[in-house]
Amino acid sequence: MFRTTTVGSLPKPDWLAEPETLWPAWRLSGDALHDGQRRAALEWLREQENAGLDIVGDGEQFRIHFVHGFLEDIEGIDWSLKTRMGIRNNRYEADVPTVTGPLSRPRPRHVDDARWLRSQTHLPLKITLPGPMTLCDTLANAHYAQRADMAMRFAELLNEEALAIEAAGADVIQFDEPAFNVFLEEVREWGLPALERAMRGLKVTTVVHICYGYGIEANIQWKSTLGDSWRQYEQIFPWINASSVQQVSLEFAGSKVPHDVLRLLPDKELLIGAIEVLPGRLESAEEVAHNILEASRHVDSSRLLPCTNCGMAPLSAELARGKLRALGAGAKLARQKI
Ligand code: ZN
Repeated sequence: MFRTTTVGSLPKPDWLAEPETLWPAWRLSGDALHDGQRRAALEWLREQENAGLDIVGDGEQFRIHFVHGFLEDIEGIDWSLKTRMGIRNNRYEADVPTVTGPLSRPRPRHVDDARWLRSQTHLPLKITLPGPMTLCDTLANAHYAQRADMAMRFAELLNEEALAIEAAGADVIQFDEPAFNVFLEEVREWGLPALERAMRGLKVTTVVHICYGYGIEANIQWKSTLGDSWRQYEQIFPWINASSVQQVSLEFAGSKVPHDVLRLLPDKELLIGAIEVLPGRLESAEEVAHNILEASRHVDSSRLLPCTNCGMAPLSAELARGKLRALGAGAKLARQKI
């Protein structure tokens, strides 16, 4: 009961990339970079094991940002043609690369690293990929007739990658869809159909992660505009419950998400955020246990997996290590208390 896991990203060590920033520059290159990424991933695997986590991952040490690992090798994107675009419905302005031709995936992206990771731990291994809707919200479209068409093409390419990652030995594949919490009607129209396409034929456990974003200033400001009760999940969860995804990862701890929205996913396992991802605050095991037990008032404990609210990439490595330990200890305490 209460198997623990994280959303995915963890900080990069300062010898590998600039610390505590969301779009850091690598500090190594070529083979030294890849060796460094493996060393960093191995260190985080051991940290997760030592913290008592049950499902582990690479902390996204092989990618600079959660969407830009998969995208790096995709053809059809002009990285030099930057288009200024408001992303997440104008929450941030960013100069994003532009899709100028048909998208294709000439080679696998994370598959070799997934196979290597499999050989480094006996615990169940989770690999994360960006979801198709979120990819479309991070790129400008100058080729496809509609954004939905671009999403479906990305879904086909993600599906190829996910099937290969499954064959390489991953136990869990998670698609990150923070955009689901922003473009609510579009989730039903094309976001979920694209996610279903991305998951087609997978036999491993599938997850969709839907959050209110990293603990960075732009998100903190956005959250302050959402009022006292955040209702986004309320609209999309019934559609997600009817989908084929097996687990839903959601923000919970310290948020204004009404706790009873958990009841809208009766057929899913829930990765509830028992750990906040704001910089500077380390919760105690007791607080984590309290969050887990609060969630268990609404969801059968057998369907609850304590997790982090979002990725921890922008935090300090020391704080992230503390949070991994608090998660493991908090889940252990909750198992004793229930
Ligand atoms: Zn997130």
